[in-house]
Amino acid sequence: MAEEFEKLLTSDTNTDLAALKHSMRTQWIMLTIAMTILATFIGYYGFIDHRNITDQERHRLKTQAGVITLNMEQQLEATDRAMISVVNDIAYLRKHEDLKLTNRRLQALTDAMPGVRTMMVLDSAGIVAASNRDELIGKDFSSRDDYTTPVEDNDASTLYVSPPFETVLGTYAINVSRIIPSETGKIYGIVSATLDPQYFKVLLTSVLYAPDMLSTIIHGDGIRFMMVPDSEGQAGRDLTQFGTFFSRHLKSGKRENVLIGTSPSYSSERVIALHTVEPKQLQLDKPLYVACSRDNSTIHKEWRNNTLKQVVTFAIISIVAIFGLVLLQRRQKELALHSAQAHELINLRLGLMELVITNDMHALLRQAVDNICRLSASPLGFFYFVETDQKTLSLQAWSSNTLNGADDERFQIGQESKWADCIRQRRPVVYKAGDLLEGKNGLPAGHGPILREMVVPVFRGNAAVAFLVICNKADGYSDQDIDFANRLADILWEITERKQLEMSLRESKQLLADIFDFLPDATFVVDQEKKVIAWNRAMEELSSIPKEEMLGQDDHAYSILLDNQLFDLIDADDDAINSGFQGVTRCGERLSGETFCPGLNNGKGGHVWAVVAPLYDYDGRRTGAIQSIRDITAIKETEINLARSNSELEQFAYVASHDLQEPLRKIAGFTELLASRYKGTLDAKADSYMEYIVDGATRMRTLINDLLSYSRIMRSKRELAETPCSVVITKVLRDMELVLKENDAEVICGPLPVIKIDPSQIGQLFQNLIGNALKYRTAAAPRITINAARQRNHWLFSVADNGIGIAPEYYERIFAIFQRLHTRAEYPGTGIGLAVCQKIVERHGGKIWVESVPDSGSTFFFTMPATPHDREMIS
Ligand code: ADP
Repeated sequence: MAEEFEKLLTSDTNTDLAALKHSMRTQWIMLTIAMTILATFIGYYGFIDHRNITDQERHRLKTQAGVITLNMEQQLEATDRAMISVVNDIAYLRKHEDLKLTNRRLQALTDAMPGVRTMMVLDSAGIVAASNRDELIGKDFSSRDDYTTPVEDNDASTLYVSPPFETVLGTYAINVSRIIPSETGKIYGIVSATLDPQYFKVLLTSVLYAPDMLSTIIHGDGIRFMMVPDSEGQAGRDLTQFGTFFSRHLKSGKRENVLIGTSPSYSSERVIALHTVEPKQLQLDKPLYVACSRDNSTIHKEWRNNTLKQVVTFAIISIVAIFGLVLLQRRQKELALHSAQAHELINLRLGLMELVITNDMHALLRQAVDNICRLSASPLGFFYFVETDQKTLSLQAWSSNTLNGADDERFQIGQESKWADCIRQRRPVVYKAGDLLEGKNGLPAGHGPILREMVVPVFRGNAAVAFLVICNKADGYSDQDIDFANRLADILWEITERKQLEMSLRESKQLLADIFDFLPDATFVVDQEKKVIAWNRAMEELSSIPKEEMLGQDDHAYSILLDNQLFDLIDADDDAINSGFQGVTRCGERLSGETFCPGLNNGKGGHVWAVVAPLYDYDGRRTGAIQSIRDITAIKETEINLARSNSELEQFAYVASHDLQEPLRKIAGFTELLASRYKGTLDAKADSYMEYIVDGATRMRTLINDLLSYSRIMRSKRELAETPCSVVITKVLRDMELVLKENDAEVICGPLPVIKIDPSQIGQLFQNLIGNALKYRTAAAPRITINAARQRNHWLFSVADNGIGIAPEYYERIFAIFQRLHTRAEYPGTGIGLAVCQKIVERHGGKIWVESVPDSGSTFFFTMPATPHDREMIS
């Protein structure tokens, strides 16, 4: 991972990683500083502790040495006073020659002084004259130091202290002595006392407070008197040699010293407190010295232990901190690596997405495989599709650096192959050279040697859809590589799917373009800026402008053809809507209407019918509009001609029926007169002829009247008025009350609206339909149902009956003028009723038709335009 991390660091895109490396370095510096501070604290407090322990120990040793010194000084002073009293009394005792008394006196003194073992009085020849110990009396001690030194010095104010000497018991003792002056100025002798070594031993032992402590008393000559705890050869030892603590004490000239160091007397370094014993009231010929010492290393044993513990703790903390930081940084690196890889994946995905549009599938996949090889540090890469049979692989692309084979080779997956293995495991598998099954590796001929390869299956649902194979990464494939390759393979498949989608989208775009081109109506599309984005072939023909010239042009370009654009009216309100177009109708957002375009038909101009609708995208945002234009110039002309001939026909029908009435009335009148006057006077034949003439004339009059009323419908100038249809129906039913009763008819009328109508014409319409329902009834009582229902922009009326019904082939014919399905003998009538109904409905802008089931009944439907302000239905 470290190398990959370093590799990523070298990439100039990874500034985040460079920052991470910097921060990691900072973390190490911080840790080092923290550890250094901690170490300094430990060292400093260790040092202070050490010093305190040393100081404390020096102080204690000094105190203990002081205690011994004070004790000894008191002991010497007491002994001295006892000896002075003996000296003072000696003249008296001698005079009375009562040495026995002297002995007792000495006995009493030694008993009283615990530190004095023996007291003696020696005469001038050095013979024991008196002693607390009888066995010593008479003994010659003239050669002993405690005798010779005072006698030679002969100073009555000095207390003489002898060097330590070995007693008969093998211990060392010290004698102190004073001269006993005689009246002659010579000396009588000396009084001496032997200091009890046991007493001093107890004294020295009492100050010991540690097993390694030693306390000692040294004579002024440098001879050790005693040392406790007792150790072989120490008592009586000469300490005057160079380097001993004693010689250093003497040299210092001070009464008290605390020294640290080594000495020939000790094997290890010691701390020693030395005091000079010199009682103030007393003049000694030689001082005594007291020393208390401890082994320096033992003093600091506990400190050393503590320090060792602290150092170990520090070491553990350091190791944990270092190890923790190493782990933390490894995690940071992992995260950074993941994030860098995610970054790479995003870049790869975006880069490939761009290529989806411009590259074909093969080029796209090769680019993708090359990129994946680069990112996974694999020199070779292959990408396969798994066919839907799940048995066949087809090689789609392989890395271009080793490309000398052909894409699109096919392989069988096989049961024992690595492909089947990967599908079974449902995860990427890394194979080494030895694992690769020869002949089953599915690689095309011509590829380089494979050392190791990672086979990555891509699944969608339960099916394997593709395989990515990457090979020969120099240092092998780690778990992270596997994870990364998995994601790369997924992207690759996503790109593939995107490309496939893109391809089908082309195809569908092409289909749409073909359909658009095929449309017979001239059609074009504009975007939101009114720029032309589509212009079909019919439009090219209508405008004589090729598509290439119009695409991208704005509304100025197509306004030359159509100065009024329905586009502009899409969002216009109803008042503005009829500005340039005639009879613009709106159906939802769709507008249609007619206009005249002077630019059409090579400048001759032409009528067009246009329809326009806005266009939206998936999110419902307006993207533009589509407009179709139909050249209706020819239709328009036909319509005009038709209208003209209709009008002429109506005129003719009116004039004819009107003008024919007069001669017809004459014919009918005179024929009736003739018949009434001459009936029975001529023969029977003449009578029947006259009946035919009267009947024909009557019938002609009916026809002409019907024709006249028919032509009047269209000539009527009456304005439409908002009228409740229920009022109209009520009036009709009232007028027909008699005939309805005669027929025993039932009329059921549902709620009817209030709409703009010519009430008398609509009344006639209903009357005709109800009349027919009664006329074409069956044996059953007529039942007529009238209803109205709102449908988008019109009302749908229905008049249903239960009569004889009409066969479907007559549905249209019955509305033609004078067309009948029955003879007059069967059903009276002229065949004008439904023609009148149709005219009335058309005049109101509606349509009329019939639906019927013969022998069950007929339903006549007609529509009436709805107005925006239709009032509520009135029942
Ligand atoms: P007429 O009733 O004078 O024949 P119409 O124009 O009213 O003329 O009707 C035309 C024909 O339509 C009728 O001859 C009749 O055959 C048929 N017809 C009209 N109304 C009905 C109806 N309600 N039921 C069956 N047939 C009808």
